[in-house]
Amino acid sequence: MGIRLGLHVSISGGIDKAIDNTLTLNCNAFQIFTRNPRGWSARPLSDEDAKRFRDRLAENSSRIDADAVYAHMPYLPNLASPKRDIYGKSLQVLIDEVKRCSMLGIRMLVIHLGSHMNTTTEEGMKNIVNACNTALEYSKDVTILLENMAGQKNSIGSSIDELGVLYKMLDGKRVDVCIDTCHLFAYGYDLRRRDALHDLIALIDRHIGIKSVKLLHINDSKYGLASHADRHEHIGLGYIGEEGFRNILSIKEFRDIPWILETPIDSRRGDEENISKVRELAYAYM
Ligand code: MN
Ligand code: MN
Ligand code: ZN
Repeated sequence: MGIRLGLHVSISGGIDKAIDNTLTLNCNAFQIFTRNPRGWSARPLSDEDAKRFRDRLAENSSRIDADAVYAHMPYLPNLASPKRDIYGKSLQVLIDEVKRCSMLGIRMLVIHLGSHMNTTTEEGMKNIVNACNTALEYSKDVTILLENMAGQKNSIGSSIDELGVLYKMLDGKRVDVCIDTCHLFAYGYDLRRRDALHDLIALIDRHIGIKSVKLLHINDSKYGLASHADRHEHIGLGYIGEEGFRNILSIKEFRDIPWILETPIDSRRGDEENISKVRELAYAYM
């Protein structure tokens, strides 16, 4: 199988537009927000809209891999929160997203692990585990992907070891992992070097199991190594750089899973250029 590559695409104009946006860019994978990511509440997803999305995806099954279609949780929820009201609202969003994914035929939902807000990592993890266990009851076919974080203050699951602890607490559930290159680098893993990349793969395999990593978010980092800042940059223009991505994208274990870009769109570059850049760097060592 060739590389599976795509972007976080817009659903403006209708959720099925994500498929057109992906085809226009000649990509075979994509990620969406199923609704506006900046609010707590969302308009319910209609059966007609869901069906249009599923049909459009099925029509294009030779061009887009149904196993490389992802949804991402909105920004506001904090599933690790010790505050009952925030936790309750966050859990409700997670339940809604699981249901929406189920309606859309999207099998994987990426979640951020949130902040324990100056309590403890253990307490934060317990909340996340409860939330996942509860939400998973609402569908039989959706898997939650835990995404590694960038090391922000009070955040959960930025180190592979810690992500592994959380993953094991959810053992046997429909839970897998998404790895984000910007977040790894911002936390302090120096992905630019081949020896460090091999160590990282071994670490992931020891704490999580490489087969449980179902998605690679490919983003460069606006800030330096161990900056603990979650700020994405165009591929090659950030601190990871072109040479860094040539190394990352040459790793066999990463080439086997889909790649999704969550890069900015601005005057310097848009989606098309970032996709071409990834293709160029991914084939540099082939
Ligand atoms: Mn994310
Ligand atoms: Mn990400
Ligand atoms: Zn990020």
